Amino acid sequence: MSSNPQFSAAVADRIAYSREALGPVVGEYLPDYVVLPRSVEEVQHVVRDAAAENIPVYPYSRGTNVYGFTLPLKGGILLDLHHMNRILEVNQETMTATVEPGVIWGQLRRAAAEKGLAPMPILGPHTGGMIGNFTSWNFTPYASRYGPDRVTTLEVVLGNGEILRTGSQAVRGHESSNPYFRHAFGPDLTGLFRGSLGWLGIVTKAVVTLYPVPEVEKNITFSFRGLAEALSSMQRIERLDITKHIAIYNRLWAAEMCDPEFKRIRDPEAEQAALARYPNWILNVGICGKARQVAFYEELIAEEIADGERFCFEGQQKRYWEDYARGGGERVTGMFGSAGSAISTLTVTPFSKCIRIYEKARECIASHNFRDPVHGGLYEPSVMYFPSERGRVVYSEFEYRFDPGRPETVPPAMEVWQELMEYYIEELGSSLMVLNVLVETRLMPSYVDMLKGIKKLCDPRGIFSPDRFFRDATPGPK
Ligand SMILES: Cc1cc2nc3c(=O)[nH]c(=O)nc-3n(C[C@H](O)[C@H](O)[C@H](O)COP(=O)(O)OP(=O)(O)OC[C@H]3O[C@@H](n4cnc5c(N)ncnc54)[C@H](O)[C@@H]3O)c2cc1C
Repeated sequence: MSSNPQFSAAVADRIAYSREALGPVVGEYLPDYVVLPRSVEEVQHVVRDAAAENIPVYPYSRGTNVYGFTLPLKGGILLDLHHMNRILEVNQETMTATVEPGVIWGQLRRAAAEKGLAPMPILGPHTGGMIGNFTSWNFTPYASRYGPDRVTTLEVVLGNGEILRTGSQAVRGHESSNPYFRHAFGPDLTGLFRGSLGWLGIVTKAVVTLYPVPEVEKNITFSFRGLAEALSSMQRIERLDITKHIAIYNRLWAAEMCDPEFKRIRDPEAEQAALARYPNWILNVGICGKARQVAFYEELIAEEIADGERFCFEGQQKRYWEDYARGGGERVTGMFGSAGSAISTLTVTPFSKCIRIYEKARECIASHNFRDPVHGGLYEPSVMYFPSERGRVVYSEFEYRFDPGRPETVPPAMEVWQELMEYYIEELGSSLMVLNVLVETRLMPSYVDMLKGIKKLCDPRGIFSPDRFFRDATPGPK
């Protein structure tokens, strides 16, 4: 290496990056080197040297994605960016913050609060970062109102070591005078890097949007016996255009979020007894604004509830639920329940498909006789639905648990997952997070060609995250 960022080839350091929560599903991959840069210049040096030697580079900001997105599938360099953790600016006028990849949600929340602002949270841990979130994906009940990403402009190190600045930062010599506008010159190059999983470039800075901390923020919940009623109430409320966040959860999801004891349950009857304390379906609605505004919104929302009732969590449950519903919190890591790990089926569809998605999951569980990995009863998935784009479509997430310590619990979960993912692609035409092989075979050729052409432009040697999207023939020829 021609520069000297912190560097290790010791197994003890490398092994920490070789596995994660989905280990038994996605496998283990040992990087050859771990490199921890502290500046964009050091990132450029690493990238130039790696390109010269045809060494793969896998970026890692905080490693909290839980889907194996940072695993070094072809070895090479694991580029851990967490030392680049400065908040370079919190700008009250433009309501933005300029952050490096190692900045975590909790850190930004604290810094922004000092200026009366807040980032729009995800429903994940405070230890993840916003750049890693942008380069993977972001779907949360906040996405409906605030969009699936909150980034205006980026600074990116490309595969030849050059820097690209997007949006209004692109004017030479003026990159810091007005980096606050995304849709500046031609196509949306900022958007190119959303969901790019480190395959197109290393993002070294992002300008992210913030929002004023509201005078009042309120979380209200309703219970429903049936999913159809919950969904139609959610759709009507969403069309009022007043929620900050909104989502439907089944009782299993609620129990995992509200009850630390739930994960210790070891038999099906005890689980049913614990679940009986929760409604079948919970519609959670977040509103905010001035006190009078919030009171008025509450009245409007109540008018749209059909065949559901106001429901209140009590005591500790209430504290955990509010904490979770407001974005992350301490219980979020309990979301995989007692088994320890889970694989998710995720898709985005119109409202009219949501019931079918649920029925299909139940049919699939029954036909595979999929048993709960902990207590052996017929499996019940935790389920969440929330609208995206102000109710045009709905995101669905179902969790299929397995115990990473007991390999025999993995194949049953995978069989159900595989069949449902096929169904999502074949019947619904929509899926997220599909395996790279599936992506390549099911996408239209012109789309694949376009992606590969963009890859060639951004990363001519193909050193960034090979195999993350497609079976890449990388590292590329010298
Ligand atoms: C219990 C739990 C719940 C969660 N809930 C949510 C949720 O509701 N919504 C949600 O969106 N996420 C959720 N997450 C996922 C994750 O916590 C967040 O998305 C987080 O913000 C990711 O940031 P990170 O820094 O850890 O990314 P990483 O895991 O480090 O990286 C994610 C991906 O981006 C790439 N990448 C990372 N940094 C860069 C960079 N600088 N340049 C280019 N590519 C890069 C990586 O190679 C990888 O492919 C959840 C996670 C957990 C554990």
